[in-house]
Parts: sequence; C-alpha cells; structure tokens
Amino acid sequence: MTDTGAQRVVIVGGGTSGWMAAAALAKLLPRRCSVHLIESEAIGIVGVGEATLPHIRAFNDRLGIAESDFMSWTRATFKLGIEFRNWGRIGDSYVHPFGTFGRGQGEVDFHHYWTRLRLQGLNPPPLERFSMACTMAREGRFTRPTTEPGRITTTFGYAYQFDAVLFAPYLRQLAESLGATRTEGKVVDVELNGETGHIRAIKLESGERIEGDLFVDCSGFRSLLLGEALGEPFQDWSRWLPADRAAAMPCRTETAVTPYTSAIAMPAGWRWRIPLQHRTGNGYVYSSAFVSDDEAASALAGAVEGDAIAQPRTLRFRAGRRERSWVGNCVAIGLASGFLEPLESTSIYLVQQAITALLELFPERGIAPSDRDEFNRIIDLEYDRIRDFLILHYHATERDDSEFWNYVRTMPVPDSLAEKMELFRRRGRIVKYREGVFLDASWVAVYLGQRVRPLGYDPRADLPPADALLRGMGELEAEVAAAAEAMPNHLDFIRGYCPMAAAA
Ligand SMILES: Cc1cc2nc3c(=O)[nH]c(=O)nc-3n(C[C@H](O)[C@H](O)[C@H](O)COP(=O)(O)OP(=O)(O)OC[C@H]3O[C@@H](n4cnc5c(N)ncnc54)[C@H](O)[C@@H]3O)c2cc1C
Repeated sequence: MTDTGAQRVVIVGGGTSGWMAAAALAKLLPRRCSVHLIESEAIGIVGVGEATLPHIRAFNDRLGIAESDFMSWTRATFKLGIEFRNWGRIGDSYVHPFGTFGRGQGEVDFHHYWTRLRLQGLNPPPLERFSMACTMAREGRFTRPTTEPGRITTTFGYAYQFDAVLFAPYLRQLAESLGATRTEGKVVDVELNGETGHIRAIKLESGERIEGDLFVDCSGFRSLLLGEALGEPFQDWSRWLPADRAAAMPCRTETAVTPYTSAIAMPAGWRWRIPLQHRTGNGYVYSSAFVSDDEAASALAGAVEGDAIAQPRTLRFRAGRRERSWVGNCVAIGLASGFLEPLESTSIYLVQQAITALLELFPERGIAPSDRDEFNRIIDLEYDRIRDFLILHYHATERDDSEFWNYVRTMPVPDSLAEKMELFRRRGRIVKYREGVFLDASWVAVYLGQRVRPLGYDPRADLPPADALLRGMGELEAEVAAAAEAMPNHLDFIRGYCPMAAAA
C-alpha cells in the first residue's frame, strides 16, 4: 500500500495491453491505486493488431480520448466489418457487418422473414442489401451513424484499423499525464511470498527490486508472471484452431482504402488485408502442419496488392488461454492470458474486457476470492464464445481443395458449437447471449455467408402476406442504397476529419 492507502499496481509490459491497462487505471481509479509500468525496449512489442471491434470506441470515450486526434495519431481508417473471401467456396464473398440486417427491431429477427421467402422460392435479394454496414462497405462509403430513432443510418456501428506500433505510445502519453510512472528494464526474476504464493516483487536486470500489491502481467506471449512464475497451465485449443503462425508484411496502398478489413482464405489458412492511411497491413495466418514458413511467406508476397515496405516477418503462437487469468495477486491481460487468432479482430477487445472487469472488481483491502472468481468467469466466457465463433468460420465450409480445408471441415467441434449449428440449421435460431461479444447479426452473417442454410424459421415470420413482405423488403433495400449513396467516400471523409498527424 502507498502512504494514502492506495494499492500499488505494477504492470509488466508496455505493449497495447500494458498501456491500455495503465491509462484506464490511472484515469478511472486515481484514488484507489498508483500505477507503475515496467517495459523493455530491447524486447519490444508484438507490433501487430491493427483491426478492432466497435467496443474500442467506448473504451476511448471513457478515457476522454478525442476520436479525430486518436485517428490522426495512429493513422487510422474506419472499419464497418470484415469481408470474407473464398471461405464457403472459392469465389464466395460476404461481409460480417458491424450492425443489423433490417432495422434490427421487432420480435422476429429479419433473417427469419428472409429465410421464409427463400424457402418459398420467392428469391429475396441477397441479405447484405438489407444491411447499412454491408452496403456502405461494398460501396466504399463512410459517415458516422446518426441517432434519430427509426432512421436506417442508426443501424450500423464502426471500429478502427490503426497502426499497432503507434497505439501504445499514444496511450503512454495519456497514462503518464495522469500520473502513471514507467521504468525501462528487463524483468529477470519474480519473488514469491512463500506462505501465500502471491507475488511480492519483481527484479530487474539492473538489480532494482519493485514491490507491489497487485501485479498485472502484460508481458505478451511469454506470460512472465502468470505462466512462468506462477505456473498457471495453458489450455491448448489448436486441435480446433490449427493456425499457429503468421507471416506479416506491410505494403504501399495501391488499391482502395476500404472501410473494412479483408480476410481472404488461402490453402492453409487465410490472409488479412487492413488498409491504413499510410500503408496497408497484410499477413498470412497459417498452420505450420500444412505449409512451410518459406512457402507461406512467398504465397503472401505473391498475393499482396502493392509494393512491399518490408520483408515478411514470421510470428508464432498457439490458440488457447491460461486456465485462470487471475491467480493470487496477479492478473494477466492480453497475450499473457491467451490468444485467439486475429480472424475476427478480438484480441484488443479481450484486453478491454479484462480491464473493465478489473476496474469493476478492483481489490479492496486484500483480494476476495469471489471477486477473483467472477473475473475469471467473465474472461473464460469471452474466450470460449469467441473460440466457437472462430471455429465456425473454418468448419462451415464446402472447400475440399487442400489438406488444411479437409481437416477443418471434418474435425469434431466443441459440443457448445455443434449445438448452436444444429439449432441454426433446423430453424435459423441464434443462441442468445446475455454476455459475450458476437450477437445475432454476426452469427447470421457467417452462417449464411458460409452456406449454412436453415431448413426452417421462426413460425411467427409466416404472419405477413408474402407480397406485403416482398414489397417491404424492396422499400428497405432502396432506402439502404439511397442512404449509402448520399454518404461521402471513405477516404474523403478521413481527409476532412482526421488526416494523419505529422507527429505520427
Ligand atoms: C499475427 C497477429 C495478428 C494480430 N492481429 C490483431 C488484430 O487485428 N486485432 C487485434 O485486436 N489483435 C490482434 N493481434 C493481437 C494483438 O497484437 C495483441 O493482443 C496486442 O498487441 C496486445 O499485445 P500485448 O500488449 O499483450 O503483448 P506485447 O505487444 O507482446 O507486449 C509485451 C510487452 O511486455 C514486455 N516484456 C516482455 N518480457 C519482458 C521482460 N522480461 N521484462 C520487461 N518487459 C518485458 C515487452 O517489452 C512488451 O512491452 C494480433 C496478434 C498476432 C500475433
């Protein structure tokens, strides 16, 4: 404890998760804790992680970050969803949008009406045309959503695509201005309390010893405190998510600065394309059991749509999570707690959820097991649900053109996912979540986009006469198209709102 009775929080690691945690704790719990962060520039940060989910806007808002300033600094673009190419079959393309299909109102979800018309052979237009976010993405348009109830322009959300290397320094400035302190140095030892097993202090290569009450492990894949010092086991999920490497290679932007991320299926995984203001991020996420590093790097180099800015860099990882993220007085956040591949841009979201749970359950006068258990329950649930959603992308495919796709198409999936898929196949039903990230429209987009076609629908969708339903859909389609057409081009909007800062 400090003189004022506040907890001494020691954060190990100064990547995105370390500085997000430092800024949030310094801003929102200034009377409850002091924040001290240790990082090693010699070790560096993972330096990827460019695509986000809309939740990050709420995080930035709570920290008082002005959107245009943050976007200028990190050279960010807007993201309305993810385009998946070649997933169900080679040649397929669908967008997983941030927003609803239809107006997202009413008791019966829009896709049930659409499924009814399809099963009755009435050929409704493609589902994407009823999504504001999908239509804007396809047309390369962007403006921020409106708030007047009932308007079609209220039915989408957005996130950012930003330069991962610039985000942590941006947050560092903020955290330090709020009183967080930083030590440059390499942690070489962790001192445990022999009785409680809690961490008492960490030791740096310089010989310095730093004590704390609560230790936040943001040390990346190495999981220095939770994994190495406390020995918390890792649950390996690679049998369902076999991708274990990525080759990353930025290039000059020579094609459109799309307001979406692309995930393009490849013979042994998939390739990301993330356009930023100053360059385009690319990477091939693959399974080393099915392709060599050299083959993957050259496949990526051959596929990118612009001159390379750097040679391909290989990153290694394993899908899964630590059994518990909070053990004793150590809370792991970010890659130190686990990793699920970047197919749905969920890692920074998981960091944010862990920070929010830590703020809500921040220890008072010692650590209560009930707080710790609740934190672990929230984090486990988030990981488990994202895991199922990611597996769906691989498993729901008709591709049989490579060993990799044959493996993922035929592999047994977790029971929790098998049950969800069966409900959707039978009657188009999405299992409702009260907590967790991906809601109905996300599952609908991926199921239908990957050719999981329901054999039935919610019986209440039979209520309106078919001609009235078709007419209503035609009107909605026209309304969405007209609203998108009235919006500015994505890049024009950015130029007027948040052009990249010279300082960046
Ligand atoms: C291929 C790939 C693509 C990704 N794409 C996305 C994406 O699109 N969207 C998304 O949300 N996420 C993505 N991620 C995940 C994202 O990059 C991370 O979640 C995010 O960067 C947070 O990383 P981190 O801060 O936990 O770890 P790191 O960035 O690795 O930071 C670890 C920190 O710990 C410090 N450290 C380590 N050991 C020591 C030591 N001994 N002493 C002192 N300091 C130490 C390091 O110096 C560093 O500061 C991706 C990850 C990978 C691998």
